[in-house]
Amino acid sequence: MTVATPSSVSALLSRLGLAEENAGAFDGTWIQTHGKRYESLNPATGEILGVVREASTADYERVATSSVAAFHEWKSWPAPKRGEVVRQLGDALRRHKEDLGHLVTLEVGKVRSEGLGEVQEMIDMADFCVGLSRQLYGLSMHSERPLHRMYEQWHPLGPVGVITSFNFPVAVWAWNAMIAAVCGDSTLWKPSEHATLCSIAVTKIAQEVLEANGAPPIWNLAVGDRHVVGQPLSADPRFPLISATGSVAMGRSLGGVVAARLGRSLLELGGNNGILVTADADLDLALRAVLFAAVGTAGQRCTTTRRLFLHKSIAAEMKDRLIQAYGSVRIGDPSEPSTLMGPLIHEQAVADYRHALEQAIEQGGKILFGGKVLDRPGFFVEPTLVEAIPHMPITCEETFAPILYLFEFENLDEAIALHNSVPQGLASAIFTLNMRSAEQFLSVSGSDCGIANVNIGTSGAEIGGAFGGEKETGGGHEAGSDSWKTYMRRQTCTLNYGKNLPLAQGVTFEV
Ligand code: NAD
Repeated sequence: MTVATPSSVSALLSRLGLAEENAGAFDGTWIQTHGKRYESLNPATGEILGVVREASTADYERVATSSVAAFHEWKSWPAPKRGEVVRQLGDALRRHKEDLGHLVTLEVGKVRSEGLGEVQEMIDMADFCVGLSRQLYGLSMHSERPLHRMYEQWHPLGPVGVITSFNFPVAVWAWNAMIAAVCGDSTLWKPSEHATLCSIAVTKIAQEVLEANGAPPIWNLAVGDRHVVGQPLSADPRFPLISATGSVAMGRSLGGVVAARLGRSLLELGGNNGILVTADADLDLALRAVLFAAVGTAGQRCTTTRRLFLHKSIAAEMKDRLIQAYGSVRIGDPSEPSTLMGPLIHEQAVADYRHALEQAIEQGGKILFGGKVLDRPGFFVEPTLVEAIPHMPITCEETFAPILYLFEFENLDEAIALHNSVPQGLASAIFTLNMRSAEQFLSVSGSDCGIANVNIGTSGAEIGGAFGGEKETGGGHEAGSDSWKTYMRRQTCTLNYGKNLPLAQGVTFEV
């Protein structure tokens, strides 16, 4: 039974300003694109939700030119005034939360509460950015020269290219576009080919806010694949920063292109996240956290728990409890409020799931639960538990599906070493009630990831912290803390208010 009927879906799309066929580029006005047809599919049913036409090279050029012009106007707006525009965007998102959240569910298959949660994350970002718009501060330093003042200030950087993945089709735009906006930058968004309607709906909401404020078109859009939009954008010297979220393969290719022109890139790439459960852990807490982090979003979060390290003394009990819990996960239509796990994004993701499990078995793994593709329309698979052998090659890769590999350990040093032995370094967690174990995990000899939690799972980060990961995850940090600095250029200023010209380091140069 689906709660989203064809008529309720078409009413929802029309409330968000979406048509059956949509223009795929925005530069302050919607550009009637004529490129490749992207059919936006509901992954729960395989039905077409709408069509978007890809931008052409000429459309891209128009949008890029507009982003540059918008930047030059916007950068002169006082930062708190820019913050006020972002505040109003937050309010507009509050008004559209229900519809936009439902669109996320329909287009990428997230369950209802996660679709709504994604829009809430945008709203939280807006609130954060309003405060940030009054806190873009630099430091002042004492000069070694008399009657001199030295300080640093932060200026807007320029137009920013924002390339996003399908699995956070709206929130990742907000992380970038809102911070960039208060920093005085415009953005050109290249969304995932699998979440085009979400990007158009968000841009329409943003357009209303810009127009109401007489602001330049700082939030631009160009829908297209890597060849038509992604690569031209990353190679475009008019964009000093490219912020890209996606797979390690994407980051490797894009990072090289941006580096070759000495641009700045902010890379948020794949993870292979682990949770350690020690002998003294609160197993009830650990079980709930593992379940959400491994099964939530059908295993399609960058922070999804993919590896679980269990102390030998509690391993048998945890495995039994996990098997039981996995058996009670309600899989189905993500629009149905009681569903806990929706579909994978597309047919290829189902093939990747099958392939990973074949590899796991070949490499000595044993399936404890799940392992099957469900025989129903859409792209549904079972959440799967695999008993694994340390260093099985497949466990060192990110498969974007709900597969959890289980390992056993005897001492914490050994578990941390195994945890850190993969190329990715995004999110990690330990469940323990032992203060020494917790501190060891957080210490310099502990987790090597960008995110390290104690008694909290790997997924579901708050926006107040800087989000990102190390090693092949790309080293980028977005959202909270001082991530804004990536979107600005630092200028060190020294001012002489005396009558002499002393040189630094005592150098003399007199004629
Ligand atoms: P993907 O790499 O297939 O695509 C991501 C985006 O990059 C898309 O818009 C795509 O068109 C574009 N792209 C791909 N190759 C490109 C290239 N060479 N040049 C320019 N653009 C290019 O990823 P996906 O399947 O959409 O998303 C899943 C991946 O994203 C997973 O690996 C996941 O871990 C990762 N992810 C990471 C984070 C994070 O914050 N670290 C967050 C969300 C998703």
